[in-house]
Amino acid sequence: MALRITRDGIELMGAAARADCRRAVAAEVSRIAVELERVLAPRDGRYVPQTTVNFDSDGRICTVVDEGSRTILIHIPLSCMEADPASLYQRSLNLSHELAHTLTPCGEPGRATLLDEGLAVFFAEAYTGRPSRPPRRYREARDLVRMLLATDNGVVRRLRARHPGKRICDYTAPDILGEVPALDPSVADDLVRRFYCASSRGTRLTCR
Ligand SMILES: [Zn+2]
Repeated sequence: MALRITRDGIELMGAAARADCRRAVAAEVSRIAVELERVLAPRDGRYVPQTTVNFDSDGRICTVVDEGSRTILIHIPLSCMEADPASLYQRSLNLSHELAHTLTPCGEPGRATLLDEGLAVFFAEAYTGRPSRPPRRYREARDLVRMLLATDNGVVRRLRARHPGKRICDYTAPDILGEVPALDPSVADDLVRRFYCASSRGTRLTCR
Protein backbone atom coordinates (compact mmCIF):
# COMPACT_ATOMS: atom_id res chain seq x y z
CA MET A 1 0.00 0.00 0.00
CA ALA A 2 1.32 3.44 -0.92
CA LEU A 3 0.75 5.92 1.89
CA ARG A 4 1.01 9.70 1.88
CA ILE A 5 0.96 11.67 5.12
CA THR A 6 -0.09 15.29 4.76
CA ARG A 7 -0.99 18.21 6.99
CA ASP A 8 -3.89 20.15 5.55
CA GLY A 9 -2.94 18.77 2.18
CA ILE A 10 0.74 19.74 2.34
CA GLU A 11 3.01 16.74 2.33
CA LEU A 12 4.98 16.36 5.53
CA MET A 13 8.62 16.69 4.56
CA GLY A 14 11.79 18.28 5.85
CA ALA A 15 11.80 18.58 9.61
CA ALA A 16 13.07 15.56 11.48
CA ALA A 17 10.05 15.53 13.76
CA ARG A 18 7.76 15.48 10.77
CA ALA A 19 9.75 12.61 9.29
CA ASP A 20 9.43 10.70 12.57
CA CYS A 21 5.70 11.34 12.59
CA ARG A 22 5.42 10.18 9.02
CA ARG A 23 7.26 6.94 9.77
CA ALA A 24 5.19 6.34 12.90
CA VAL A 25 1.90 6.89 11.11
CA ALA A 26 2.91 4.74 8.15
CA ALA A 27 3.90 1.93 10.52
CA GLU A 28 0.67 2.25 12.47
CA VAL A 29 -1.49 2.24 9.34
CA SER A 30 0.24 -0.97 8.25
CA ARG A 31 -0.32 -2.55 11.67
CA ILE A 32 -3.98 -1.53 11.68
CA ALA A 33 -4.53 -2.88 8.15
CA VAL A 34 -3.12 -6.27 9.15
CA GLU A 35 -5.16 -6.33 12.36
CA LEU A 36 -8.34 -5.26 10.52
CA GLU A 37 -8.07 -8.21 8.16
CA ARG A 38 -7.26 -10.57 11.03
CA VAL A 39 -10.15 -9.43 13.25
CA LEU A 40 -12.89 -8.68 10.70
CA ALA A 41 -12.35 -9.45 7.02
CA PRO A 42 -10.24 -8.63 3.95
CA ARG A 43 -10.38 -5.03 2.70
CA ASP A 44 -11.78 -4.26 -0.72
CA GLY A 45 -8.52 -4.55 -2.68
CA ARG A 46 -9.64 -2.07 -5.33
CA TYR A 47 -9.16 0.80 -2.86
CA VAL A 48 -6.04 -0.35 -1.04
CA PRO A 49 -3.20 0.89 -3.30
CA GLN A 50 -3.30 4.62 -2.46
CA THR A 51 -4.17 6.06 0.93
CA THR A 52 -3.45 9.54 2.31
CA VAL A 53 -3.63 10.45 6.00
CA ASN A 54 -4.14 14.19 6.48
CA PHE A 55 -3.70 15.95 9.83
CA ASP A 56 -6.50 18.45 9.75
CA SER A 57 -6.39 21.78 11.60
CA ASP A 58 -10.19 22.02 11.71
CA GLY A 59 -10.37 18.76 13.64
CA ARG A 60 -12.20 16.78 11.00
CA ILE A 61 -12.33 13.00 11.47
CA CYS A 62 -13.59 11.32 8.33
CA THR A 63 -12.74 9.19 5.33
CA VAL A 64 -13.22 10.61 1.85
CA VAL A 65 -13.19 8.20 -1.05
CA ASP A 66 -12.64 9.25 -4.64
CA GLU A 67 -14.60 6.64 -6.55
CA GLY A 68 -12.95 7.64 -9.85
CA SER A 69 -9.35 7.10 -8.79
CA ARG A 70 -10.27 4.70 -5.96
CA THR A 71 -8.04 6.67 -3.59
CA ILE A 72 -8.75 7.12 0.11
CA LEU A 73 -8.16 10.32 2.10
CA ILE A 74 -8.37 9.95 5.86
CA HIS A 75 -8.65 13.14 7.93
CA ILE A 76 -7.65 13.06 11.58
CA PRO A 77 -7.17 16.08 13.87
CA LEU A 78 -3.90 18.01 13.85
CA SER A 79 -3.57 17.32 17.61
CA CYS A 80 -2.96 13.67 16.70
CA MET A 81 0.52 14.72 15.51
CA GLU A 82 1.59 15.28 19.11
CA ALA A 83 3.65 12.59 20.81
CA ASP A 84 2.07 12.60 24.29
CA PRO A 85 0.17 9.46 25.33
CA ALA A 86 -3.31 11.01 25.08
CA SER A 87 -2.68 12.28 21.54
CA LEU A 88 -1.14 8.98 20.47
CA TYR A 89 -4.18 7.14 21.81
CA GLN A 90 -6.49 9.47 19.86
CA ARG A 91 -4.37 8.89 16.75
CA SER A 92 -4.69 5.10 17.13
CA LEU A 93 -8.40 5.34 17.89
CA ASN A 94 -9.17 7.63 14.95
CA LEU A 95 -6.97 5.83 12.44
CA SER A 96 -8.35 2.41 13.34
CA HIS A 97 -11.96 3.69 13.19
CA GLU A 98 -11.43 5.34 9.81
CA LEU A 99 -9.48 2.43 8.34
CA ALA A 100 -12.33 0.12 9.34
CA HIS A 101 -14.46 2.16 6.90
CA THR A 102 -12.07 1.10 4.12
CA LEU A 103 -13.17 -2.55 4.42
CA THR A 104 -15.71 -1.66 1.74
CA PRO A 105 -15.87 2.13 1.27
CA CYS A 106 -19.46 3.40 1.13
CA GLY A 107 -18.94 5.81 -1.73
CA GLU A 108 -20.78 8.62 0.04
CA PRO A 109 -20.82 9.14 3.82
CA GLY A 110 -24.60 9.35 4.06
CA ARG A 111 -24.92 5.74 2.95
CA ALA A 112 -23.22 4.32 6.06
CA THR A 113 -25.37 1.98 8.12
CA LEU A 114 -25.29 1.18 11.81
CA LEU A 115 -23.35 -1.95 10.80
CA ASP A 116 -20.63 0.23 9.17
CA GLU A 117 -20.29 2.55 12.15
CA GLY A 118 -20.70 -0.18 14.72
CA LEU A 119 -17.92 -2.22 13.11
CA ALA A 120 -15.67 0.86 13.07
CA VAL A 121 -16.22 1.57 16.78
CA PHE A 122 -15.94 -2.12 17.68
CA PHE A 123 -12.69 -2.52 15.74
CA ALA A 124 -11.14 0.71 17.08
CA GLU A 125 -11.81 -0.46 20.64
CA ALA A 126 -10.37 -3.90 19.87
CA TYR A 127 -7.29 -2.35 18.27
CA THR A 128 -6.61 0.15 21.07
CA GLY A 129 -7.51 -2.39 23.74
CA ARG A 130 -9.88 -0.14 25.66
CA PRO A 131 -13.49 1.04 25.49
CA SER A 132 -14.03 4.47 23.93
CA ARG A 133 -16.68 7.09 24.71
CA PRO A 134 -18.22 7.96 21.36
CA PRO A 135 -21.59 9.78 21.06
CA ARG A 136 -24.70 7.76 21.92
CA ARG A 137 -25.61 6.76 18.37
CA TYR A 138 -22.14 5.25 17.87
CA ARG A 139 -22.44 3.32 21.13
CA GLU A 140 -25.81 1.93 20.01
CA ALA A 141 -24.26 0.83 16.70
CA ARG A 142 -21.31 -0.76 18.52
CA ASP A 143 -23.62 -2.63 20.88
CA LEU A 144 -25.59 -4.05 17.94
CA VAL A 145 -22.34 -5.22 16.36
CA ARG A 146 -21.30 -6.79 19.65
CA MET A 147 -24.58 -8.75 19.61
CA LEU A 148 -23.93 -9.82 16.02
CA LEU A 149 -20.35 -10.94 16.69
CA ALA A 150 -21.27 -12.60 19.98
CA THR A 151 -23.66 -14.78 18.00
CA ASP A 152 -21.03 -15.55 15.37
CA ASN A 153 -17.66 -13.79 15.23
CA GLY A 154 -16.91 -14.97 11.68
CA VAL A 155 -19.98 -13.42 10.10
CA VAL A 156 -18.33 -10.39 8.48
CA ARG A 157 -15.69 -12.54 6.81
CA ARG A 158 -18.37 -14.90 5.48
CA LEU A 159 -20.58 -12.04 4.27
CA ARG A 160 -17.60 -10.56 2.40
CA ALA A 161 -16.86 -13.95 0.83
CA ARG A 162 -20.52 -14.60 -0.07
CA HIS A 163 -21.09 -11.13 -1.58
CA PRO A 164 -17.67 -10.05 -2.90
CA GLY A 165 -19.05 -7.18 -4.99
CA LYS A 166 -21.34 -5.81 -2.29
CA ARG A 167 -20.46 -3.02 0.12
CA ILE A 168 -21.18 -3.45 3.83
CA CYS A 169 -23.57 -0.45 3.62
CA ASP A 170 -25.63 -2.40 1.06
CA TYR A 171 -26.11 -5.56 3.12
CA THR A 172 -29.75 -6.37 3.85
CA ALA A 173 -31.27 -7.99 6.91
CA PRO A 174 -31.81 -11.24 4.94
CA ASP A 175 -28.10 -11.17 3.94
CA ILE A 176 -27.15 -11.06 7.62
CA LEU A 177 -29.76 -13.56 8.80
CA GLY A 178 -28.72 -15.90 5.99
CA GLU A 179 -25.31 -16.16 7.67
CA VAL A 180 -26.50 -15.95 11.28
CA PRO A 181 -29.96 -17.54 11.52
CA ALA A 182 -29.78 -17.49 15.32
CA LEU A 183 -29.58 -13.67 15.43
CA ASP A 184 -32.62 -11.75 16.68
CA PRO A 185 -34.20 -10.43 13.41
CA SER A 186 -34.74 -7.00 15.00
CA VAL A 187 -30.98 -6.69 15.49
CA ALA A 188 -30.44 -7.41 11.78
CA ASP A 189 -33.10 -4.80 10.91
CA ASP A 190 -31.38 -2.19 13.10
CA LEU A 191 -27.91 -2.99 11.72
CA VAL A 192 -28.94 -2.19 8.14
CA ARG A 193 -30.58 1.17 8.97
CA ARG A 194 -28.81 4.29 7.67
CA PHE A 195 -26.67 5.85 10.38
CA TYR A 196 -27.26 9.44 9.29
CA CYS A 197 -30.21 11.43 8.09
CA ALA A 198 -30.39 15.01 6.90
CA SER A 199 -32.39 17.55 8.90
CA SER A 200 -34.55 20.18 7.26
CA ARG A 201 -31.71 22.68 7.90
CA GLY A 202 -29.29 20.53 5.97
CA THR A 203 -27.34 19.40 9.02
CA ARG A 204 -26.57 15.76 9.27
CA LEU A 205 -28.18 14.27 12.32
CA THR A 206 -28.43 10.77 13.55
CA CYS A 207 -31.89 9.32 13.15
CA ARG A 208 -33.81 6.28 14.04
ZN1 LIG B 1 -17.21 6.26 11.33
